[in-house]
Amino acid sequence: MENSTILEIKDLSVSYTSSNKEIKAVRGLDLAIRQGETLGLVGETGAGKTTTALSVLRILPEVSSSIKSGEIMFEGRDILTLSRKEMREIRGRDIAMIFQDPMTSLDPVMTVGRQIEEMISLHTDCDKKELRSRAEAMLEVVGIRKDRFDDYPHQFSGGMKQRVGIAIALSCNPKLLIADEPTTALDVTIQAQVLNLMNQLKEKYRTAMILITHDLGVVAEICSSVAIMYAGQIVEYGSIEQIYGNHMHPYTEGLFDSIPDIEEEKSELKVIDGLPPDPSALPAGCSFSPRCPYATDRCGESCPDDVQVEPGHIVKCILAGKK
Ligand code: SF4
Repeated sequence: MENSTILEIKDLSVSYTSSNKEIKAVRGLDLAIRQGETLGLVGETGAGKTTTALSVLRILPEVSSSIKSGEIMFEGRDILTLSRKEMREIRGRDIAMIFQDPMTSLDPVMTVGRQIEEMISLHTDCDKKELRSRAEAMLEVVGIRKDRFDDYPHQFSGGMKQRVGIAIALSCNPKLLIADEPTTALDVTIQAQVLNLMNQLKEKYRTAMILITHDLGVVAEICSSVAIMYAGQIVEYGSIEQIYGNHMHPYTEGLFDSIPDIEEEKSELKVIDGLPPDPSALPAGCSFSPRCPYATDRCGESCPDDVQVEPGHIVKCILAGKK
């Protein structure tokens, strides 16, 4: 049976205002995710990945940000038109988020067990006893003994705190989980354990997941599809096989060239020349043109269209399928 689409973002544009300048963080973004799918949203800092996630949860900073256009359809309803009350019901119950830094996302003065109970009690009518047993069960799901229920976050290591963050996020069995660089703050061995856990849990609960990362190694471990973001746009999208085996956008090529290959003796790693553009003064035409080794005069004339180079594989480049 074909899995149904649970989230569809259409033509989303989000800007921030700073010092009277418009910072175009997300520009005309289209993206869909199906039940059970894990989508990697990949790009450098400032590419618009986190802004996209915060838009889906409607937790963008109110004063400085504005959604310029678009729709975010979740199970047939446009999230952007819902009331605050309706949104509060969806957040945590249907769409949950795991943040990058578990040290700051947990409440330091509340026991971890109580923090899981709080999330469950926001969205269910469980009595006290049931709340406790569901929260203890969630701790065990993420590999923490239930007798640690009454411990405070500072009594846990970084990896264990991130497990608590995962337990809170999964406690209401959400349909969509957004994980924003969930392993970046952890050291390498703990990263692998947390990724392993996330992999097991997504199989068990069939939760759709958007994994935000700058790390293509993490994507390979866990994702089924990949969207590469650059300067607020998706420049390449495809299945994990298409992106790892047959990527076509020059920016994606640069990202792969900059990964160390432990089997090949490379004396030097290639880096992508230049820096991402200033989002308040984007170049004309293709935003990647100042850094692109294949750029021609045509690239500066207009923003390239999305080209479908094979079923499900989309590339935003005038050379797509022609190199
Ligand atoms: Fe490079 Fe031109 Fe393609 Fe942009 S459109 S990625 S500048 S070749």
